[in-house]
Amino acid sequence: MLLVNLSEQKIEEMPLDESLARNFLGSYGIGAKVVYELQGPGVDALGPENTLGFVTGPFGGTRVPYGIRYQVVGKSPLTQTWGDASSGGSFAPQLKRAGYDAVFFKGISEKPVYLWVNDGQAELRDASHLWGKDIFETEDLIREELGGDRRISMSVLGPSGEKQSLIACPITDKGNAPGRSGMGAVMGAKRLKAVVARGSSFTPVADEEKVIAMSREAAKMVRDNPGGLENYGTCGGTGNSILSGDCPVKNWIGVGEEEFENPHALSGESVIKYEIRKVTCLGCPTACNGIVKVESGPYAIEAAEKPEYETLGAFGGMCLNNNLESIIMANDICNKYGIDTISAGCTVAFAIECYENGILTKNDTDGLELTWGNHAAIVALTEKMAKREGIGDLMADGVKVAAEKIGQGSEEYAVHIKGQELPMHDPRLSQTREAQLPVLGIMYQIDATPGRHTAPSSNRGRALYASGLCTMGGRVFQGEKLCEFLTAVTGIEYTENDLEQIGERVACIRQAFNLREGYTPKDFRLHGRVIGDPPLEKGPLAGITLDMDTATRDYFEGMGWDPETGKPNKERLVELGGFEDVIADLY
Ligand code: SF4
Repeated sequence: MLLVNLSEQKIEEMPLDESLARNFLGSYGIGAKVVYELQGPGVDALGPENTLGFVTGPFGGTRVPYGIRYQVVGKSPLTQTWGDASSGGSFAPQLKRAGYDAVFFKGISEKPVYLWVNDGQAELRDASHLWGKDIFETEDLIREELGGDRRISMSVLGPSGEKQSLIACPITDKGNAPGRSGMGAVMGAKRLKAVVARGSSFTPVADEEKVIAMSREAAKMVRDNPGGLENYGTCGGTGNSILSGDCPVKNWIGVGEEEFENPHALSGESVIKYEIRKVTCLGCPTACNGIVKVESGPYAIEAAEKPEYETLGAFGGMCLNNNLESIIMANDICNKYGIDTISAGCTVAFAIECYENGILTKNDTDGLELTWGNHAAIVALTEKMAKREGIGDLMADGVKVAAEKIGQGSEEYAVHIKGQELPMHDPRLSQTREAQLPVLGIMYQIDATPGRHTAPSSNRGRALYASGLCTMGGRVFQGEKLCEFLTAVTGIEYTENDLEQIGERVACIRQAFNLREGYTPKDFRLHGRVIGDPPLEKGPLAGITLDMDTATRDYFEGMGWDPETGKPNKERLVELGGFEDVIADLY
């Protein structure tokens, strides 16, 4: 691992202790443990003491399919809690092949820099000439100055992060976003323009033959049994999701089947009509991503990343916007400037509701007519937000900050948890099915990074996530397979019980970060609209109110955590091992 002190422009190697790797596996597990140790409570998320990590998993850079994700970790400036955000692409494999599992940054650089990690060598390089450039330009310029090698991959900061927008994120390979938690603002505060990596050979593994054989078998299984992602990516079910109540509509108060005209305009079939080629994270047999082209009209664009489900939900369902081409354009703006599409789309919906209720007028919106479904205004506001211009400056830190500045009752329309806008899956939907727990609602509310739809709720799921695997490849790693892959790659015998314990440790260390910051479970409350308080009067979610107090209490008790204080059981921490510092801090 590398530790980079940006204030001193110093790079040092940190050994990856075997017990750290065994106990926390990788990705957000190792990330949380290292950040917990490297900083104390109460640091300014945008100050020099906050540690920003880019952490891969044990499968990165190997032949194992789907093992390509990295997480950006640290204290979130958006929520002031633990923050992590996950991305695909080819950055994690390249960083691993370059010889490093993770890079952590402390301090603040005097001038803009980027880190170049190349086959076991790391150096900080001047990025003054790149500051102000958008993500696409920056990636092209860096690649060119490093010799043009196509293998080079990077996590790049855009102008929104430079301006410390709290919904900013870095972007990898011009279209993969570790979007949540506002980690782009942390990069911007540190004047870190990019982390760039290249490695020339596969990451060494313990049992090469077995890894090759198992990886081939897994890829064949996927090819022989396609699951739908291959055709459409995540956007496959957007139309139905708007109708079923899964996708929130009109800033969480709408009913899709009544108020959203032609939801199938946003369906997978509609989206792939624009697709001109497939793209994939490195070595993935599913290849769920794509590049789209809009031939003509106001949103004509030669090549743009295909919008994901979450993006279609945020700029579509939430804004009552069925103009797909405008969403392709909004998505491209977010990728170019580096902002999270979920938060950006939700913030536009918030602004529209403020406008509808006369809290914002044309005088405040630079003349934009912010009405539901006005796609031209939606795209224009997105661009202003990305550039922090005019009304966009007010909106660039998400709905919580915007509502605090606007006042006048706008807080009612600011749907978030601790500052983070909610993802595009309504937790009330679970209550339309018999005997279902509102798992999503629980995870939105109690996960250490609040408002994460990909946060696993089980210990095994957390172990899978900590291994850096894409959850969309999860079917390949069911049963004994995950342990077999881990054993073949690391040479350490893993059992299902080990995975359970790893997942539990990951949950405990992330929870401990928030507890050390002084938070208790009472500080995490979902907005009333998300839990049906008051309930909707129409549609598939009519009459549903989630009992979050009971659900979260049950969940905490199931974890062995105190429902009042949120503290993990002390004896259990001792049993799990490696929590001496946490015990000293919490007890
Ligand atoms: S399924 Fe999609 S997101 Fe996951 S690794 Fe493959 S291409 Fe990347």
